[in-house]
Amino acid sequence: CGIVAYIGHREAYPVILKGLKRLEYRGYDSAGVALLNEGLKVYKKQGKVADLEETLVGKDLHSNIGIGHTRWATHGEPCDRNAHPHVSSNGKLAMIHNGIIENYAQIKQELIKKGYQFTSDTDTEVLLKFIEDIHTNNGGPLEESIRIALKRVVGAYVIVVLDENNPDTLIAARKGSPLVIGIGKGEHFLASDASPIIEYTKEVVYVNDYELAIIKADELILKNLGNERVTPFITKLDMEL
Ligand code: GLU
Repeated sequence: CGIVAYIGHREAYPVILKGLKRLEYRGYDSAGVALLNEGLKVYKKQGKVADLEETLVGKDLHSNIGIGHTRWATHGEPCDRNAHPHVSSNGKLAMIHNGIIENYAQIKQELIKKGYQFTSDTDTEVLLKFIEDIHTNNGGPLEESIRIALKRVVGAYVIVVLDENNPDTLIAARKGSPLVIGIGKGEHFLASDASPIIEYTKEVVYVNDYELAIIKADELILKNLGNERVTPFITKLDMEL
């Protein structure tokens, strides 16, 4: 139901945690984060953001990149296992998703035939493992595999993918669910709306449907699903906290 992600020079976890709290008004049943700290680390829990926070007290959460999620269950009951982020079979990719993948059942059957196993009941895990399967077969840049997968997807989504093998890049895409990217100095903030971003920067890009964003600390590339570059349209926010 809500997403927050960060890449840059700050500690990602506090930015994400605060952002998720700002999105709490949307309602949710579980929360989770993925960070890169000596490999991909995923923490998720049914309940409030504060419950997640409590279980993470004392942990080494250092990371300058991360993704966070609050879930409003549509496919699969609210529980730790179904909470986001979800992780690929090879343990390298983590993904958060808002929305619904309508044709997930068919894709899931195809993946099960190929030997994929599922640890959750979500449509999200199906999309992630679909991306993973394409990526395993095709190689090449991850954004290409994501693009191929999204062309087959029916439904609404905003996704953000964190890849242990590309620790300086986040990939995001949307169709039908909102995604705002805040542009800072050597940092980028992603969120479902501007409220988690506004304290850091007033310059934002509202990503359009069928667009994919390749985000590094100091670079934002937008493309459409046809792999053509799209010029990001920067909006100046005039709202105050
Ligand atoms: N359909 C996904 C799920 O049930 C995402 C729900 C959401 O938007 O939070 O896990």
